[in-house]
This record gives sequence, structure tokens and C-alpha cells, in this order.
Amino acid sequence: MTRAEKANRIQQVLDGLYPEPPVPLDHEDAFSLLIAVLLSAQCTDERVNKVTPGLFRAARTPAAMAKLGEAKILHHIRSCGLAPGKAKNIAALSKILVAEHGGAVPESFEALEALPGVGHKTASVVMTQAFGHPAFPVDTHIHRLAARWGLSRARNVDETERDLKRLFPEETWGKVHLQIIYFGREHCPARGHDLAACPICGWAASKARMQRERRAGGASGA
Ligand code: SF4
Repeated sequence: MTRAEKANRIQQVLDGLYPEPPVPLDHEDAFSLLIAVLLSAQCTDERVNKVTPGLFRAARTPAAMAKLGEAKILHHIRSCGLAPGKAKNIAALSKILVAEHGGAVPESFEALEALPGVGHKTASVVMTQAFGHPAFPVDTHIHRLAARWGLSRARNVDETERDLKRLFPEETWGKVHLQIIYFGREHCPARGHDLAACPICGWAASKARMQRERRAGGASGA
């Protein structure tokens, strides 16, 4: 089976399991999404969705967030991982949005990635989920699943993103990103398990990989 055929079959499985995957982070606009994505690093979406209502009650716009300041932002997001650094970045990026972008979130990769704490993956999520531009956000989970499924042999997320963009039609990138995230969460347990029982690895993983994982005591989560 070629990589393209695999990708096609994987898409069919994912479409069957998650026909319309919702965006897991609660948000109302590009700014609230940007902040939620930034908070989600080293933190569950569930936890982010618990802290953002309080934070946005205190400051709903970049101008209000800049005024709220780092210490008060930290107070609201304290239960998230890496909270001090995130509070600093949220305060700093809010000031930049006000000073350089008219108080709005810029609609370009370049401008987004120039903001403190915003990397290519965060910018990709905002570009596709807030603005509807084609983007395929790839994090370490998607990187590992793409390798398991034999879709990419890339050594880093940037190369995996390039490979996945070649395999899936552009109009599906944002959806496939979400579907793979949901699949990983629901089907990929943290501890060893049998790849043969997986709805995708059961046929997509190479025999060599299956044997390797079996010898090592099962797959170890993706
Ligand atoms: S075999 Fe396990 S790790 Fe691999 S995709 Fe299936 S559930 Fe996830």
C-alpha cells in the first residue's frame, strides 16, 4: 500500500469515527482562541477550559488584558502548567497586539509567530480554526502517530507537517489535525497494548514495527 493509499484509508476511518470534530478549546474569537492555545501547552484542554472563563471575565480584549497585567493574569491561570511564563507571554503579546496590530490578532503566520510564546503550531491552530486558512498544526502526538502509521519518517514536527500536507487534501488539513488528536486521546493508551487491535495500526503499521512493539511489551501511547 502506498503512503497516499494509506492516508486515504486513514481519512476514511477518521471520518467514520469523528465526522465533525469540534474544536476542543472553548473560545469566542481569534483572541480568546490564541490565549487558549497558548495556555494548552503542558496543560489539558479540560483545565484550560476551566481557567479561561475567569480570565476573560477579567479581560476580554487585548487592551484589557494588557491593562490587567502579568500578576493578575497569573492569578487566573495558576492551575495551568508553566503558568508564570504563560502569564508573562500573555501580558507581553497583548501589549504588542495593541501597539502594532490595532488591538486585533493578526491574520498571518509571520505576524503571529513574532508574538511572544507563539510558535508555528500555535500560529497554525489560530490560522485554521479562527481564520479558516489552510494549516496543518503538528505537535509531538501527531508526529508520533504519523510515524506509527507509516505516513512519515520525518525526524521532527516540521518535516512531518510537510509530509502530511502532501498526503491529505488541503481543504481537510484542519479537520484531519483535530481527528488525529481525538483518535490519539481515545485510542492510544499510555501503557503497552496490542497494535493489532487498533482500528488504524491494525493494518497501517509495518510488520517490523508490530514485532518490535510486541517484543517491547506493546505500543506505548502515541
Ligand atoms: S496501536 Fe495504539 S498507539 Fe498505535 S494508533 Fe493504535 S491505539 Fe494508538
